[in-house]
Amino acid sequence: MDCLFCKIIAGEIPSTVVYEDDTVFCMKDINPQAPIHLLVLPKAHIASAAEIGPENAGIVAHIFETIATRIAVGPEFADGFRVVTNCGENGCQSVKHLHFHVLAGEKLSDRMA
Ligand code: AMP
Ligand code: ZN
Repeated sequence: MDCLFCKIIAGEIPSTVVYEDDTVFCMKDINPQAPIHLLVLPKAHIASAAEIGPENAGIVAHIFETIATRIAVGPEFADGFRVVTNCGENGCQSVKHLHFHVLAGEKLSDRMA
């Protein structure tokens, strides 16, 4: 499959890995929008948040548990963080592999868009 994030997970394209386990992968965003900008994604290819259903909802729960217990745990997250996923054309999703942006390190905009 011609998917950028699948290639990164497979190690075919380099990335700055922050955390990984059997099912979840976390790397630094190449174009950070905040002092801390991470991407958390399932290793299995899921195209977007619109493709979440009973068969894969467990991995999404695991992603959020991993963010809370493994990723957003240092002092730089102590004052809070934001988790965002863009979905589809109007959501401005550019990479068609489900991923959650984790943004932190400063007071973020109080507007979502
Ligand atoms: P989205 O627009 O929500 O689909 O987010 C895609 C994100 O992937 C953007 O924030 C990009 O900066 C990021 N991105 C694109 N290519 C890479 C890459 N090779 N390594 C890390 N992040 C990337
Ligand atoms: Zn993929």
